[in-house]
Amino acid sequence: MLYVGVDLGGTKMAAGVVNDEGRILVRDTMPTGRERPFEVIAADMAKLILSVIQKGGYAIDDISGIGIGSPGAIDNTNGIVIFANNFGWHNVPLRSELQKYIDLPIYMENDATVAGLAESVYGAGKGVKNAITLTLGTGLGGGIIINGHIYSGSHHVGSELGHLIVEINGRQCTCGNRGCWEQYASATALITAGKEAVLKYPDSLILKFAGGDPEKITAKTIEDAARAGDNVAAEVFDEYVYYLTMGIISIINAFDPEMIIIGGGVSGAGDFLLKPLTEKVKEHIFYKELDFADIRLAELGNDAGIIGAAMLATDKYFI
Ligand SMILES: [Zn+2]
Repeated sequence: MLYVGVDLGGTKMAAGVVNDEGRILVRDTMPTGRERPFEVIAADMAKLILSVIQKGGYAIDDISGIGIGSPGAIDNTNGIVIFANNFGWHNVPLRSELQKYIDLPIYMENDATVAGLAESVYGAGKGVKNAITLTLGTGLGGGIIINGHIYSGSHHVGSELGHLIVEINGRQCTCGNRGCWEQYASATALITAGKEAVLKYPDSLILKFAGGDPEKITAKTIEDAARAGDNVAAEVFDEYVYYLTMGIISIINAFDPEMIIIGGGVSGAGDFLLKPLTEKVKEHIFYKELDFADIRLAELGNDAGIIGAAMLATDKYFI
């Protein structure tokens, strides 16, 4: 069986033909052009899907279904993107629009959720029933897999883990609330903290590693400076790990999963992140005498979006 998975991103959409072992056989991308009307984006997405099928030398009849991972809150039952702030979409009937061009079953879910699905079945969580994947990137995305199935709540917004509130009256979040986890534990938050630190401590290696330009500070710059023994960077990174820990503690207290998988830009720090994170979680865990979730790095990288989306089309993973 073959499926097409589409990873709809803010700048580009990526599609791939995926087999039922979670392997991408052929892939293609196209700019999203997110400022355009959704009908135009959907028409381009349909073109991308048809072109990747053709590129692999397949016929439309070889494909069992299409899956789409989209930012925002997604209602798969009705084929609607309820809202996706990045795109300015509100109740967009993406499935029916695509079906004007493609006569195949089409499934949809949130992008972080499908990445979590792929990681929990074919990536770091292979063989694990209950896994929660955190994508630490521009925002902080959550993918909740319970008993091998996607959990996205009763109103399709149940995996917005980035908006757990970790600081009462904290930083303003794009969602309208204050103190959301995303404002402290996304890659963007780490970069912002690095920029703030070099204003106060311009001699920090963070600025040196960014070529003297605060706008060039990345998560990696901060990590490298901390690894090189820079105290300012170490403090910024420590505080980041602290906030990451606090959200993870809440997740463990709510779900007690077998595994927590860390993906996205910041996960590139590898053991430099994982080791202090695991130690801190251990310090703050509620039931100290019991085992707790294994914290692992994601393994599929950007492919998780395409693979997880394609997995939706097997129709095996919805509750
Ligand atoms: Zn928020």
